[in-house]
Amino acid sequence: TREVRLASRPAGMPTAANFEIATTPVPPLKAGEVLVKNLWMSVDPYMRGRMVDRESYVPPFQVGKALEGGAVGEVVESSSPKFKVGDIVLSSFGWREHFVAADTQVHRVDTRLAPPQAWLGVIGMTGMTAWTGLTRIAHIQAGETVFVSAASGAVGAIAVQIAKLHGCRVVASVGSDEKANWVRELGADAVINYRTAGDLTAALKAAAPEGIDVYFENVGGAHLEAALNALKPNGRVAVCGMIEQYNATEAPKGPSNLAQVIMKRLRLEGFIVSDHWDHYPQFVGEMATWLAAGKIQTRETVREGLEAAPEAFIGLFRGENTGKMLVKLA
Ligand code: NDP
Repeated sequence: TREVRLASRPAGMPTAANFEIATTPVPPLKAGEVLVKNLWMSVDPYMRGRMVDRESYVPPFQVGKALEGGAVGEVVESSSPKFKVGDIVLSSFGWREHFVAADTQVHRVDTRLAPPQAWLGVIGMTGMTAWTGLTRIAHIQAGETVFVSAASGAVGAIAVQIAKLHGCRVVASVGSDEKANWVRELGADAVINYRTAGDLTAALKAAAPEGIDVYFENVGGAHLEAALNALKPNGRVAVCGMIEQYNATEAPKGPSNLAQVIMKRLRLEGFIVSDHWDHYPQFVGEMATWLAAGKIQTRETVREGLEAAPEAFIGLFRGENTGKMLVKLA
């Protein structure tokens, strides 16, 4: 079978040369193990952080070893009483076509609630991230104005819709007019194309003249600075990501207006979705209900084949995706 390995650690924007595809034998099954053929794999911005050799909340990827990440696959051989051939399972053994793992390392997904790849997106980690940031970190309330950056991405597009379902007014920021149109279809009340808007503080002021109550932060930099200017007293920021910095080769500049936090009594709280898994069943329940009622729309940007995975990943930093970026393996 084939797998994608980290060939070298990227400096700045990753390139194809940082990845290599290798062929490796499939080991025979031991008792309690399953052989899985991956159908879909996820590429996510956080993987860029794991390409750096440093201590973090997940260990770094090792040069010469296969990368890891979310994947959904089909059990094709089982020596475990818990799984049968044909079961669809979620794992963290992405970036490869097949894998053998203990039955404790894979989780069956219910394809009656959502199709296999949705367990990597809207009803999986990305949807859970949007839900956690809005409901458990920012505690959004009906009638509030919520600003979401990277709003046409996997997390952002779900965040826009969850905020609307909670009765909020939503201001979104995206990187193209086409994405802006889609985010408006999702319910956003005002959309900023940050590439053409010029000064983001002015654009946000125009979009939300009375200010914002909550900022769902995905980008960092000028977006955070504009949000700090726009936040109302006692506003909250759910700090989810700062994708603008992930490929930085120099230390990024801090927001020049951080003192707004004091004057406005703001609360900025970072979060890591994996700390909130005990609430995953609650999220799945709510999301499955919304999906069944047609209240949440999704888009996927799909690249085909394992060899397309590095470019799919790099594409996240170029804004090549609308909705969830996925690689279809089989
Ligand atoms: P997305 O699907 O949002 O893909 C990334 C998007 O970010 C691109 O499509 C692009 O859209 C935008 N983007 C890329 N570079 C820049 C830039 N320099 N400035 C502004 N926008 C940029 O990815 P995810 O939904 O998976 O992730 C979104 C954010 O959430 C990331 O910051 C990620 O790290 C974070 N995250 C955090 C988690 C946590 O537990 N805290 C868990 C999961 C994700 P555009 O065309 O609009 O620029």
